[in-house]
Amino acid sequence: MARLVLFFFGPPGSGKGTQSANLSQQLGLPAISTGNLLRQHYQSIGEHNAAMNEGQLVSDDLINKLLVERLNQPDAQSGFILDGYPRNKTQFDYFYNNIINPDDKICAIEISVSDQEVQHRIAGRRFCPKCGAGYHLTYKPSLQADRCDDCQTRLEQRPDDSPETIQERLALYRRTMGPLVVSWWQLGELIIINGEKNIDSVYHDILSVLQERGLVPPKSEIV
Ligand code: AMP
Repeated sequence: MARLVLFFFGPPGSGKGTQSANLSQQLGLPAISTGNLLRQHYQSIGEHNAAMNEGQLVSDDLINKLLVERLNQPDAQSGFILDGYPRNKTQFDYFYNNIINPDDKICAIEISVSDQEVQHRIAGRRFCPKCGAGYHLTYKPSLQADRCDDCQTRLEQRPDDSPETIQERLALYRRTMGPLVVSWWQLGELIIINGEKNIDSVYHDILSVLQERGLVPPKSEIV
């Protein structure tokens, strides 16, 4: 079966998680964040990963294994949206050699945001350690100060969202994603979206380009 495979990428805080969740809901395809897969994995075995907390990449073997397990689940058989994968050329090659089928429809969507904007956004980011819901002090505040709207758990800041770590993550992102952008561009599978507009406008721009490319149905036909 021809699958729709969408890669979302962008610097930390670019909004790729929000946009992939919106698209997931509209298209009925799962949005799979490898950062979330890793957090769930380490939570389930009761461990912390030092590399992750410091903003470094986790081993390719582990992430490829977790991803393959997730993609084998029934909800991913007609397509999926990836957030945070591939993160380097080894993962890119692994994915194209082992997971992509010749008739898959593919698009890599870069959400482009400046370093200055990233730093501002990350400072206000909060998450619920129990259910994983995401918030932002300015852009998406919870109803009750520092409590999750869904389960009332006290919200936390991710350890890798600290100002020092964010510098590391930005530098790593710019260094490792450069070659992948070139590869996607050469394959004709790259679109670049200005991520500094508001959430709805960014979403509208993404949907418009995907529709222009015939990858998703026109708006009127989307349920
Ligand atoms: P994210 O939630 O996408 O910002 O990812 C959080 C952290 O998880 C990253 O800083 C990495 O330590 C790790 N991570 C997420 N995706 C990958 C990946 N594809 N390869 C290696 N490490 C990853």
